Amino acid sequence: MKEYSGRCRCEKITFKVSGEPTWKVNCNCNWCQTTSGSAFRSFVIFNEDDITYLNERPASYEDTKTEHGRPMSNLFCSTCGTIVGIKVPIMEGRQHISIGTIDQRKDINITCNIWGQEALQFTGYSKDAEVYKTGYWGGTGEKMEIEK
Ligand SMILES: [Zn+2]
Ligand SMILES: [Zn+2]
Repeated sequence: MKEYSGRCRCEKITFKVSGEPTWKVNCNCNWCQTTSGSAFRSFVIFNEDDITYLNERPASYEDTKTEHGRPMSNLFCSTCGTIVGIKVPIMEGRQHISIGTIDQRKDINITCNIWGQEALQFTGYSKDAEVYKTGYWGGTGEKMEIEK
């Protein structure tokens, strides 16, 4: 079984994951831009049962006024501010972990990109990327033609 580990910057929050990701995605939506303060957010999604927080659990902020109409919770370290992940209520039993908090991040590739229509003008994509205009919706979302 695959093992992952991770931490926030100050290590108040550390975690281990036993199991494979259920999904991996880069999200270019407005919400991800404004909550991260950056161009997009990259997530590795695991089954919640596979994640063990070793000390404290992340603090959370529930945002009920998101642009795309569903509440989202941002998970973060209340001491150092590292954004550990998000909780999407409709994805019951799963949790998005921010790739930058995972120790093995250099071994992880993400080819799925969503909310391409909200991507910033300088955002580029890898050769094997697929880019969806809005959400992924299990692969049934509308894809975007993009320059690679
Ligand atoms: Zn911290
Ligand atoms: Zn997003």
